[in-house]
Formats: sequence, C-alpha cells, structure tokens
Amino acid sequence: MTDSQPLKVTLLGATGSIGASTLDVMARHPDRYQIYALTANTNVDVMAQLCETWLPDYAVMNDVSSADKLSSHFTDKAIRTQVLVGEEGLQQVVENENVDCVVAAIVGAAGLPPTLAAAKAGKRVLLANKEALVMSGKLFIDTARENDAVLLPVDSEHNAIFQCLPDSLTRHHSSVKITNQNDAAGIERIWLTASGGPFRTYSAEQLQDVTPEQAVNHPNWDMGKKISVDSATLMNKGLELIEAYWLFDMDIENIDVVVHPQSVIHSMVTYADGSVLAQLGNPDMRTPIAHALAWPERIDSGVEPLNIFDVAKLDFEHPDLDRFPCLRLCYEAIRMGGTAMIVLNAANEVAVSAFLEERIGFTDIAVLIEKTLDQAEITIDVSSLELILDADKLARIITNKCIAEMH
Ligand code: NAD
Ligand code: MG
Repeated sequence: MTDSQPLKVTLLGATGSIGASTLDVMARHPDRYQIYALTANTNVDVMAQLCETWLPDYAVMNDVSSADKLSSHFTDKAIRTQVLVGEEGLQQVVENENVDCVVAAIVGAAGLPPTLAAAKAGKRVLLANKEALVMSGKLFIDTARENDAVLLPVDSEHNAIFQCLPDSLTRHHSSVKITNQNDAAGIERIWLTASGGPFRTYSAEQLQDVTPEQAVNHPNWDMGKKISVDSATLMNKGLELIEAYWLFDMDIENIDVVVHPQSVIHSMVTYADGSVLAQLGNPDMRTPIAHALAWPERIDSGVEPLNIFDVAKLDFEHPDLDRFPCLRLCYEAIRMGGTAMIVLNAANEVAVSAFLEERIGFTDIAVLIEKTLDQAEITIDVSSLELILDADKLARIITNKCIAEMH
C-alpha cells in the first residue's frame, strides 16, 4: 500500500455478517481504506443505511425491484451512489481499474462469478466466500496465479494457517503452494480446528429432532444462517477441508480436522522438527479480516486480546463421522474429484434452505447430499465457469427432486 492513497475496496455481501465485520474494521482506519462499491442481495433498508454512511461510488442489488427501491431512497438526498443490478453490476464493480481490493463475502454459489472475476482482474482478493473456491478449485487458483491476484484467506482457520506459514511461502501470495516447496519449509501437517457446533455432544437420536432455531444458535461464533447450519452439521468443516486442499495445495492425507470446543486455537501447522505453530485469539472475524486487509502489516481490529487466564483450558477431540456424515461426504467428494465437490456444495445449499424452511429434518441434509452424489453424473472436466455452473444447476435439480420424493 502507498503512504497516501487509501485502498479502494469493493465489498461483496455488505449486508451480511462478514460484511458488517469488514466495515467495522475499515471504519477504524479511514485513512487506509475507502469503499468503492457495496453489494447486497435484496436487503434495501440496510443497504440504504450503509450507503448513507459510506457514500460508495456504486451499490449493486441482486434484482431490478430492489435496485429501484434503493435508488428511490437517494432521490431526495444528496447521495451520488449509482445503483447497478445483478451479475453484470457485480462484474463491473469488481473489475473496475479504480478498485484495489475485493472482499468476497457473498454466501454460496452466487458469489462464484464475481469472486472469479476479481481473481481474473488481478485484484487483492479477501476470500470469505468458501463455496466459490469449493466449486471452482483449480480454475480459481490458476486464475489468481496467472493474473497476479493477491489471494488472502479470511476464513478464520485458513487465515490462521496462512499466519503460521513461513514468509518464504506466503510472500508469493497469489496462493500458497506447499507441496512443491515442502522439503525446505518442512511442513508436515495442517490441523483445521472445529468448534463441533451446537450439537457436538448430541446423540444420533437427539440430532433427528433439532430445529432450525437451535441450529443457527452457534456457541462461539455469530454468523449468517447458512454457515451456522453448516457448522452444526460439520459441513462447514468439510467445505473448509476442500478450501484448504485448494488454497494450500496440500495432499488430503496431510490435512486433519480436530474438534476444539473453545474456538481459541484457529488452526495449526506441524513442522518436520516437531514444532506445532498455532494462531490463537478470541473468536471474532474482525481479526482475520484485519489481518487480510492490512497484510503484511498489522492494524487494530477492535478485538480484545485473548486473556489466556480466562481460557484456562483447551480441549481436543476427534470428529465423529458417524454422527456428522457431512464431513465424511466431503472427504469422499475430494477423492472422487471432478464435479463431485460442485455437486456436494449445490446439494448442501438446497438441503440447508429446505431445512431452514422446515421442509426437511436436520439429518436429512446429509442423506440428500449423499443421494445427489450417487445420482449425479460426476465428470472430470471442471476447466471453465460454464461447466462448473452447469454441474451446479444439474445437482440442484436432483436434490430438489429427492426432496419432493420424501413427501
Ligand atoms: P450472511 O448470510 O450473513 O451474508 C451474506 C451476504 O451475501 C449478504 O450481504 C447478502 O445480501 C449477500 N447475498 C446472499 N445471496 C446473494 C445473491 N444471490 N446475490 C448477491 N448477494 C447475495 O453470510 P455470512 O455469514 O456473512 O457469510 C458470507 C460468506 O463468508 C459465506 O460464504 C461464509 O461461508 C463465509 N464465512 C463466514 C464467516 C462468518 O463468521 N460469518 C466465517 C468464515 C467464512
Ligand atoms: Mg471457518
């Protein structure tokens, strides 16, 4: 970053949980960061407030009706924010030459096209939208490398791993290639920590009856609904396993999941000499966001430093793949390769929506994903956005059909 010019940021998913945490960190450093564009799905009221505060050049809403409503908010005020619509609007505010940094914080597959466009445009990309990387994998990493994008993980586990890696690897930050340089760096294992979610101690029988309200009530983290349900099924950890697999180019055998209910250690790296490096902190997404915004510098995030005496005790357990089959399915999808991870992600999105709408039960989520993986044709070629979006679409049709058959 230059001394005088603030970094111009496009924040995709501004009205969400990561969006709010990002704006909270940015507000502490008005000299360093400036909002260029804010985007949201359909939440016009929150978006109108954000635009009044941040005065972005552009605001993007997902549909014409939301965009019109937002524009009408501005007519009697001296706000010059231009309102754009949909995928084209997103692409425009990501690719624009005035933009330095894109924060990818849309939830789900909807975030893939603009996040990939940010990598293609060679931006500094702060990646929270894990589904985008799960779906596009090698295409995304190759695109970031070829276009010199600076890819920085915001997901707390991947950000922790990034922080525990040696400078020699993270200096070339368009993605960290561990396997090729493994010998010199001496990296042996990556440990992804998992809180275990709200149902960590529930029996298989108890899991049958859990409600959406219970599932979105995470013990340690305050997050959007979809990722909260994913945390409850351990699908979130499975998606993060896939995310780590692509991001760090690591063999899956060398990535482990460890349940750590306190969520104080955000992940760890084991080295050849027996050292295990961990990143610790209070569970607050403003820490990884501030790290990624300022990297390689450090800035205030507003998060209280960890009081180790308050923590006192750290517990570790193996994950239970029988009670939480979504994690097992993620391991299987990685081994299947090709479109399997796209199919798994799509089936999960459809199933989680159905669960939140009380159309299916909690344990049906894994059943539906497994059925979809069985029924979808898994193909090897995932080399273009079109192929990826086709596989996503077909999987959603299968999962919806399976849901209809359940009733
Ligand atoms: P959220 O539901 O709180 O917010 C999602 C945002 O995406 C909102 O601004 C919404 O308007 C926008 N959006 C949703 N659907 C859209 C669509 N079809 N088109 C355009 N915009 C759309 O979600 P969140 O918890 O902030 O999570 C965002 C992403 O970050 C997810 O991929 C999640 O897995 C990841 N993540 C979140 C956390 C967390 O603590 N919340 C931690 C790590 C990773
Ligand atoms: Mg995470």
